[in-house]
This record gives sequence, C-alpha cells and structure tokens, in this order.
Amino acid sequence: MGFQCAECGYKGKQSSQGACPACGSFKLALKSNLDSERENSDKRRRLKSIALVLLWLYLAFLISQKIYGS
Ligand SMILES: [Zn+2]
Repeated sequence: MGFQCAECGYKGKQSSQGACPACGSFKLALKSNLDSERENSDKRRRLKSIALVLLWLYLAFLISQKIYGS
C-alpha cells in the first residue's frame, strides 16, 4: 500500500509520521484506497443507470396497461 502527497505529488510507500517526507504536508492520499473508491463509484453509477432504465420500462408498462387495459 502506497501513498501520494496531494501537495507536491510525492509518491512513497509508508509514511512514519503521517506527513510527506518531501514537503511536510499532511494531505496524503492512500493510492490503493483511492483506486478502489473510484471503482466503487463506477459500479454505483452503473447500478443507478440500470435502475433508471428499469424504472422507465415499468412506467411504459403502466402507461400501456392504462391505454390498452380496459
Ligand atoms: Zn509533499
């Protein structure tokens, strides 16, 4: 697991004090965490679009039932 400094872009393995060795900034981003988070949001977006399509199909079904139903 590595980290990247948000201030100067320094990439390192593990910081002992939780600060960037290059510039001393505490804004460190864990690389592996960031990647998995991006993957999760991608999955969530895909699920949301699928749910939206299903909702529209259901709505179209209800409308057609109303028109051709009785
Ligand atoms: Zn830095």
